[in-house]
Amino acid sequence: MRLKIWQAGEAVLRQRAHPLAPEEIRGEAVQGLIASMRETMRDAPGVGLAAPQVGVPLRLAVIEDRAEYVSMLTPAQAAERGRAPVPFQVIVNPELYVEGEETAEFFEGCLSVAGLTAMVRRALRVRVECLNESGEPVTIRAEGWYARILQHEIDHLNGLLYVDRMWPRSLMTTENYTRYWKNVSEQEFRNRCG
Ligand code: ZN
Repeated sequence: MRLKIWQAGEAVLRQRAHPLAPEEIRGEAVQGLIASMRETMRDAPGVGLAAPQVGVPLRLAVIEDRAEYVSMLTPAQAAERGRAPVPFQVIVNPELYVEGEETAEFFEGCLSVAGLTAMVRRALRVRVECLNESGEPVTIRAEGWYARILQHEIDHLNGLLYVDRMWPRSLMTTENYTRYWKNVSEQEFRNRCG
């Protein structure tokens, strides 16, 4: 079932979401939620969706970066972003650990802040300890765009949006991003608008 994606201004997007027990994860209600969130994310389309974005205050998110999305970038852009396909996965009760001190800054958007995008600095490498869709503990090690997606989705579970972390001067409509900046480096944007 396709769900409504809630927009900034809804309190649920600003509150800390609640953890789930493994047996709850395996239950019909959460399994149904996961299936609906997968459909909603694909339909949007997006590369991640957290439960608070569909009005559900639980520490659960779905992630998937499909090859067809990555192929919309030039090979150079994909390499610069460290972006490669990520198979569908569910993260529950995630704990995020930054690995190393390297960061990367790119334009990022959010389905709950429709029509806008801004530059956000994120850790380049992270480790996530969480439960999967079967309630089993897993460790995820990620870098590049995958690490960015994880940080973005886990922020949602803590009531944070990318606008809390963005470089404010870089905020723009996605329409203008596509029109003027899509094929321009972040450095060039800084040179002209910073
Ligand atoms: Zn988001």
